Amino acid sequence: MSKYSMKCPVCSHPMEVEAMSDDEAMTKMMAMVKEHMATVHADVPMKTDEEMMQMIKDGWSKSESGDAMAAPEAGAAM
Ligand SMILES: [Zn+2]
Repeated sequence: MSKYSMKCPVCSHPMEVEAMSDDEAMTKMMAMVKEHMATVHADVPMKTDEEMMQMIKDGWSKSESGDAMAAPEAGAAM
């Protein structure tokens, strides 16, 4: 499991998801950002999925969560 975290570009609200892969994290983060935008920033025009994906990629940081002794996952590298 890795932890992915980013801040809302509008209000710096921290958003975190945990996932086994970048793909899974992106799916979860997209859902979280969309919900946040729809509820907190309803007045801000919704980005397209592509723009939002790019925004997340630029903004998030990844860190290992849980057991620090765990071996790095094979194929987890970019
Ligand atoms: Zn926000």
